[in-house]
Amino acid sequence: MTFILGLTGGIGSGKSAASQWFETQGITVIDADIVAREIVEPGQPALAQIQECFGDWVIQSNGELDRRALREYIFKEPEARQQLEAITHPAIRTSIIQQLSAATSPYVILVSPLLFETNQHQLTHRNLLIDASEALQIQRASHRDGQSIEQIQKIISVQMPREKKQALADDVVLNDGHIDHLYHQLENLHQHYLNIAKEKKQS
Ligand code: ADP
Repeated sequence: MTFILGLTGGIGSGKSAASQWFETQGITVIDADIVAREIVEPGQPALAQIQECFGDWVIQSNGELDRRALREYIFKEPEARQQLEAITHPAIRTSIIQQLSAATSPYVILVSPLLFETNQHQLTHRNLLIDASEALQIQRASHRDGQSIEQIQKIISVQMPREKKQALADDVVLNDGHIDHLYHQLENLHQHYLNIAKEKKQS
């Protein structure tokens, strides 16, 4: 079986930057956020299930999911989140497993901001945390998305605390310097992961 690495980190920590670097090394990266969007595209069974569960108002005239309306509804009706996740989580999991097993690179990465929170780390063999201070997270995410400091702080407050993620991860990269410093640390880990992948293939 192919060695699967989980890659996580809070908002603005540098997950995407790290993922892109691994891709330049020929490693397939599966992004849980992208999968979450794919499984509710028109024609997908999960979208039909959501429509059946909540009503036709969740579908826009172009056939796409009305994310904003659903988000607002869930905000008002807390049980609705559980109903929605009972539909989406298994569909996301199935699709991730399919994509992981179809990958042909020496090892494969599952990147997810909620790797530990949603138990997606059960699908991986080892987990890498891209870590950064809250101040840096805020600075980078606000620069990237133009979101307010308050909005980013709100997102950070619902994500698993940094210390907890540090304790759960097998490898931690502190992304607190120049981007080249991040790449240098990833290079060392990549060699390590290639070795693990090789051993795993032989066993
Ligand atoms: P995440 O995917 O974890 O939310 P990103 O990888 O998108 O975070 O990084 C957030 C922003 O910060 C991006 O614009 C990225 O280019 C930038 N960035 C990431 N790491 C560094 C770094 N070491 N130095 C400078 N900018 C960085």
